[in-house]
Amino acid sequence: MIRSYRLQFRDPFGISRSTGTHCDNVFVEFDGGWGEAAPTAYMRESRATAEKALRRIVAMNLPDPDCIEDVEETVRRRVKGNASARAAFDMALHDRLGRRLGVPVWKLFGRAPKPDMTTSFTIGIDTPEVMMRKVAAAKNFDILKIKLGRDLTHDLRIMRAIRAAVGPRRRLLADANGGWTLAEARRALPVLADLGVEFIEQPLPRGAHDEVRRLKKGAPIPIMLDEDSVTAADLPALAGVADGINIKLMKSGGLTEARRMVTVARNLGLRVMIGCMIESSVAITAAAHLAPFADYVDLDGNLLITNDPFQGVRCERGGRLKLPDLPGLGVRVRADFESDFA
Ligand code: MG
Repeated sequence: MIRSYRLQFRDPFGISRSTGTHCDNVFVEFDGGWGEAAPTAYMRESRATAEKALRRIVAMNLPDPDCIEDVEETVRRRVKGNASARAAFDMALHDRLGRRLGVPVWKLFGRAPKPDMTTSFTIGIDTPEVMMRKVAAAKNFDILKIKLGRDLTHDLRIMRAIRAAVGPRRRLLADANGGWTLAEARRALPVLADLGVEFIEQPLPRGAHDEVRRLKKGAPIPIMLDEDSVTAADLPALAGVADGINIKLMKSGGLTEARRMVTVARNLGLRVMIGCMIESSVAITAAAHLAPFADYVDLDGNLLITNDPFQGVRCERGGRLKLPDLPGLGVRVRADFESDFA
């Protein structure tokens, strides 16, 4: 079964490039396993391309679906691009295998969930009034990630206001989504450091490796790269350029490649963050099975929507993630949505 479904955002969600109110994600059920694609224009995908790619993948003559690496290699060779569609299928294979073996996916990966896997909660770009209202409403979360990168004056003003509002102890992260120039980033980083912001994510546009390297010299906080780290093949070029990477299933093409990215990043001395797009509990739960491998967890996409058709990973006090102790991904269709996914 392949079905697209419109996820409605709780509030308009703004990053440096754009603001949106909903997304059309594509769900696949393959031999009892669930997967989800969150196609984005940034990755040159749409609901239509993801659906088409998934139909093609499901109809392929594939190796034994129990042998996920074999299948992933075949699909990657034959389907170029379409990372979110490949991610959905790879997720479904993991869910399927876990269910058949009667074990949660985290057990297949061999890392037990930790008690302190705490997701950050993202505050999108908006007017200062709206952003401050969202910060106040997010008091349950121990870690906030603030989207920046549209206008430096706004960025510094809002970060000062947020720190003043949340007090000195709350953990803060910032993500500029490639929106700054080198000169702007050099002005911003000391201010963020003074405010106790733990790291800056993607300060400069994708591909500006030499400039990031220059920024990192003497930078007062670590630099994490997201748009620059798509698959494991990107990582050797980032060693020594930045301090860490953000891994997302919708960029890597699935859990299989995401795990390779973890291994390669560790070997290169890069810190690891597991992130997401705006996704339902299917894809968020899939990514959460990698959280035991991560230094930072940013899996709040399902918390930003009002009509999540699935349940899976639970988000508890402070943002602590609790992985389901069920076979496979541990995701189920919510009762109210059964007719949509029958
Ligand atoms: Mg990011």
